[in-house]
Amino acid sequence: MRVVVLRLGHRQERDKRITTHVGLVARAFGAEEMLLTGIDRHIEESLIDVANRWGGDFRLRSGVNWKDEMVLWKKTGGNVVHLTMYGSNLMDVLGPIRNSEKIMIVVGAEKVPPEVFDVADWNVAIGNQPHSEVAALAVFLDRLFQGKELAQEFLGSLRILPSARGKHVMEHH
Ligand code: SAM
Repeated sequence: MRVVVLRLGHRQERDKRITTHVGLVARAFGAEEMLLTGIDRHIEESLIDVANRWGGDFRLRSGVNWKDEMVLWKKTGGNVVHLTMYGSNLMDVLGPIRNSEKIMIVVGAEKVPPEVFDVADWNVAIGNQPHSEVAALAVFLDRLFQGKELAQEFLGSLRILPSARGKHVMEHH
């Protein structure tokens, strides 16, 4: 299954850290790419730096037009999941979502344009309370992949040796 994340409405100053965290979670929890509606060199640099050091082939594409990307994704056989507190309960729709081979997950920042609700195949709530795009994305990906994404190998030059205490990092060259 291919999974990409579309981050809508990034505001350069206000959302710098949270959009970076959306990207970090997307990469660590099994998505292959993040699409960003704005352009933010700081975010590009920090995500590329993480991918270079910690491995994997996560990509970032910024300055995209969200509507074009959603429509193209659907035209090429993909499905769109919009994460919103107003949506269907996750556990009610996860079955059919898992049958999809290509999923674009859309998360917002400020108010999401109403059209997104119409274009999405599923509007999905991770509980019907307001919280965060970072939390919503992490829970959604973890339920989608049933925890298996946490065991994926990134084969980076930096790798952690899991340990009960302290920090053990190996460098591979
Ligand atoms: N007030 C905004 C609106 O009306 O769309 C939402 C702002 S919220 C801080 C930013 C993003 O977090 C949302 O666009 C959504 O993707 C995600 N989010 C927040 N709570 C959520 C929930 N309970 N379920 C799913 N996604 C959620």
